Amino acid sequence: MKRISIFFSIFFSLIYFSSIYPWGEKGHALIAKESFKALHYEMIDFIHYADIVISKSSDPDKRRPYTPGEAPKHFIDIDFYNEFIEARMITDIDSLKKVYGDSIVVEMGILPWATLQTYYKLVESFKLQNPDSIIYYAADLSHYVADGFQPMHATINYDGQLSNQKGIHSRYETIMFNKHLSEIQRVISPRYAKRIENIQSFIFDYIYASSFYSSLVFEADSIAKNISQKQQVRVKTKNSFSIFATLLFSELTKGAYPLTNFFLPIKSTLFYLIEITSNSEKLENQIIYDDKYYELLWFRTKDMTISRAEKAAEAIASLYYTAWIEAGKPKIPKFNEPNYYSNDNNISH
Ligand SMILES: [Zn+2]
Repeated sequence: MKRISIFFSIFFSLIYFSSIYPWGEKGHALIAKESFKALHYEMIDFIHYADIVISKSSDPDKRRPYTPGEAPKHFIDIDFYNEFIEARMITDIDSLKKVYGDSIVVEMGILPWATLQTYYKLVESFKLQNPDSIIYYAADLSHYVADGFQPMHATINYDGQLSNQKGIHSRYETIMFNKHLSEIQRVISPRYAKRIENIQSFIFDYIYASSFYSSLVFEADSIAKNISQKQQVRVKTKNSFSIFATLLFSELTKGAYPLTNFFLPIKSTLFYLIEITSNSEKLENQIIYDDKYYELLWFRTKDMTISRAEKAAEAIASLYYTAWIEAGKPKIPKFNEPNYYSNDNNISH
């Protein structure tokens, strides 16, 4: 009996921990991969970076637990601001801070400005013809743009906590998305990259759209919950060691860490554990929804979800293309493959 309960505790913690990475790691990789398909042949030297950039497209999520200042870069609760509701959002961060103060602006998330800053870093990296920096910022840009296309990253009700729909964030973006990953992969077809005139307003425009789409997700969740069997299993996962072991195993099998630095996945895992165990509600009340629920959630959000993933890939490709043009279309250098791991010391921060 005890073994069974340990098995279930590991199983459900796996489900839970898969929700740590927004869009899921697979979702980010899929979007990153599609973005390279949307690049023009004139960027062929950069297209050769595809595999390494794709493999690093979830790095910002991985470093989030132990990197100060990283967490607010992944979202913006844009509907917190009246200016947004009234279609006159203050898009300049300094002006916004003047109205709301530094800490509020950071608390509400700084995704658009983090994206913008990463874009400029990529321009600089192209100019410097520095492969390490190009890889680092191309992967980061891919991540932040993909986050910006995810409706749950652009609303103050980001986990349904204000509408009694707690957990919708990971139900939508990770569990549902992963269930339909191959279908999404089959139909997704981004258009070719195009030059962007105004980077800042381009970024804000797709974030506005994400925020509007969040109500579609909330509505789908309510309907799906009402119709489905409400097969909700409360799982208590109090065994910290089994959670740690499960998470560490899942980190290691991703193969995303340099083999020479075994301490890094352990450190990352420990930080997750502290973050999660500090929230006893999260830990003790995992509610598992049945297949019918996910079928209905997908039925109502499928078109929007595929379109957001497709548009995210297009946007990433267009930002790569525009960054390269802005850098003066320099020759893109080769880098050493395989087993290439970017070394932070080589990156021009
Ligand atoms: Zn993220």
